[in-house]
Amino acid sequence: MGCSTPASPSIGAFVQRSSNRPIAMALAALVVAVFAAPAEAGEYSPELAATAEAVIEGLDALTARVDAGVASADTRMHAGWDTAVARAVDLASLNRLEAAIAEARVEAVAVLDPLVGRQSTGAVPAAITAALWDEDMNWVERRNHRDTLAAWQRFRDATDRALAVRDVLRDRLGLPSVAGLRVCPLEHPEPFRSDWGDARQWWRTHRGNDMNAAEGTRLVAMERGTVIQMGWHYLGGNGIYVLGDVTGDVYYYAHLSAYADGIEVGSPVEAGQVVGYVGDTGNSDVPHLHLGWMPEAGAVDLDLLTDAYPMLVELCL
Ligand SMILES: [Zn+2]
Repeated sequence: MGCSTPASPSIGAFVQRSSNRPIAMALAALVVAVFAAPAEAGEYSPELAATAEAVIEGLDALTARVDAGVASADTRMHAGWDTAVARAVDLASLNRLEAAIAEARVEAVAVLDPLVGRQSTGAVPAAITAALWDEDMNWVERRNHRDTLAAWQRFRDATDRALAVRDVLRDRLGLPSVAGLRVCPLEHPEPFRSDWGDARQWWRTHRGNDMNAAEGTRLVAMERGTVIQMGWHYLGGNGIYVLGDVTGDVYYYAHLSAYADGIEVGSPVEAGQVVGYVGDTGNSDVPHLHLGWMPEAGAVDLDLLTDAYPMLVELCL
């Protein structure tokens, strides 16, 4: 018997054999209706199913990795070592866990990309749910979408557990809470890619992260802090440097079209406060924000410039 043999003969045989014909007929009609449904609800797309399968597989692998990181940090945290050793172990665990969370988030965006594009992490469930109600979709595709949504939720739960352990570790180490500390530098971010280290003109490499945005888009301080430097640079155009109060990080914004009213060197700023507007001043072809991030620098120190992409994914996508 080949796989392509239609189901109807056996249903017919069942109807023939049955002593209760009306019920059997109704059952047969129901079976036919259920199996016929996909054909009525639009073409089945094997590509979409394969995409969903790959997304689910990818998300579940990331979930397992995040959970393994949490388990490892959790085990060490409960080991009864003396304080100095415990502190060193906690710090190592914290660094590893923060890196694992950032990495998993970046990879999750890439995994989801073929299905829902580079949505903000908050918008992903809505995007999948909206896709679910596409009326051309058949039941196989709907099931794939529901499974994808569930895999996304498992991943979100795992990162929430990891963030909870991170907060406990930071607390044990006497470090300030970072939950909600930073915000995305752009009020209306567009999708962006990782371009740290890319080759640039005159043998330079790109030591920052570019985010395209419409000219005049409001740029906000990423963290509560102080404006420590402002001015013109032939490459960066109009630039501004903010020193974060809590982290000691320095955030550099370049190519501004203008500064916000009242912003000058020494101005205190709140996280989310407008400091300027996106432009293409200096060495720039299109309006964009060039962000330079100097973690824990305490002052402008270009040697400490670091790839901010994982952080930007967390804050802006
Ligand atoms: Zn740049």
